Amino acid sequence: MVLAELGGRISRALQQMSNATLIDEKVLAECLNEISRALLQADVQFKMVMNMQNNIKKIVNLDDLAAGHNKRKIIQQAVFNELCNMLDPGKAAFVPKKGKPNVIMFVGLQGSGKTTTCTKYAYHYQKKGWKPALVCADTFRAGAFDQLKQNATKAKIPFYGSYTETDPVKIAQEGVDTFKKENCDLIIVDTSGRHKQEASLFEEMRQVAEVSNPDLVIFVMDSSIGQAAFDQAQAFKQSVAVGAVIVTKMDGHAKGGGALSAVAATKSPVIFIGTGEHMDEFEAFETKPFVSRLLGMGDWSGFMDKIHEVVPMDQQPELLQKLTEGNFTLRIMYEQFQNIQNMGPLSQVMSMIPGFSQELMPKGRENESQAKIKKFMTMMDSMTNEELDSSNPKLMTESRVYRVARGSGRTIREVNEMLEEYKRLAKIWGKMKGLKIPKKGDMSAM
Ligand code: GDP
Repeated sequence: MVLAELGGRISRALQQMSNATLIDEKVLAECLNEISRALLQADVQFKMVMNMQNNIKKIVNLDDLAAGHNKRKIIQQAVFNELCNMLDPGKAAFVPKKGKPNVIMFVGLQGSGKTTTCTKYAYHYQKKGWKPALVCADTFRAGAFDQLKQNATKAKIPFYGSYTETDPVKIAQEGVDTFKKENCDLIIVDTSGRHKQEASLFEEMRQVAEVSNPDLVIFVMDSSIGQAAFDQAQAFKQSVAVGAVIVTKMDGHAKGGGALSAVAATKSPVIFIGTGEHMDEFEAFETKPFVSRLLGMGDWSGFMDKIHEVVPMDQQPELLQKLTEGNFTLRIMYEQFQNIQNMGPLSQVMSMIPGFSQELMPKGRENESQAKIKKFMTMMDSMTNEELDSSNPKLMTESRVYRVARGSGRTIREVNEMLEEYKRLAKIWGKMKGLKIPKKGDMSAM
């Protein structure tokens, strides 16, 4: 995702500024210009970038900066808040209520990923025990019904559509009625797209909306459309009451800034993002963790969620305590390797921890890393309790390294490599010392 590059550029701009001996208006302006250039290149709309720049200038008080406050942190926080504001339209999207017949209508251009997303959305709720159903009111694109049918069958979701009926309005009405009678609680109506915005498409959309009377209209947008996002989203919003946005193909080379524009244009929040072609490559979207990761600030709430999910309850307080004490032993490394193995995709977990992301887990080499971790653990199994519980690497003398290598059937070089990894991690871990770990949802301590 190119958004990661954006985060890197913004972080570098902030770093450069804090390296300056004196922060005056010129240095601040340079930093803000670089941040603006990065945002523009990520396809954030020009007007929004300019607004953001002005807002930050207003918020950031140069006197505070001169007085030796942590400049980088003050500006980073201002950038963080501004990006969050851009993504926050000020009102939440409609949340379907389980057990009631919620009707959700999907709109978007052809190729945006609308049909795929309908199934992903249905599947997401189905996994949580809902009873979703799909209605194919796309009679414009040949093969649309087949595609929906195929997806729905794979996910075992009931569907409605027709090979012969050409009136999408009629299909929408019949489909919604059918599934209401069958007590489905999430009736998803997939509508036609066109290659470009056309009056006929919008008229059809209005009519489908009229008969299906949706509780929520979701605008599906391909993240790679770039600067066109704002106008496109606005055009849809003007025709139907768009209440939420789903941005697709965030896994590709998209610059992603269009998501921000779509929110501004529709005044509706992004609720999910699509991250691949498969059914479960779909993530609920949360603004603060997203922006936080974008700026390389780590995602504490995601990290805490993971800790709650995989670290046994009785070990949680102890782990957090150890984390803030910064006293890293080989045993902690062993336990963390164990936890990490349970956590699933490593890079995903690691990217949530500030400073960890790139260093421990090179992206795309997860399998290799997993195998290495396993190997390290076997070697640690041959170590004594004293060695595991000490944070003094000097205990591992040459003869002990030799014994551990022999005991685990590995080479001396491999044991040394494991110890090097320990030292490297201990250094990173040391950075956590005294760190205030925010409670869930509270990012202010970052
Ligand atoms: P529609 O015309 O808007 O209904 O679009 P489709 O659902 O047919 O999707 C168009 C293409 O985009 C298909 O090849 C999908 O597999 C692909 N697609 C949809 N969502 C995603 C996504 O999140 N990531 C990737 N990589 N491809 C996607």
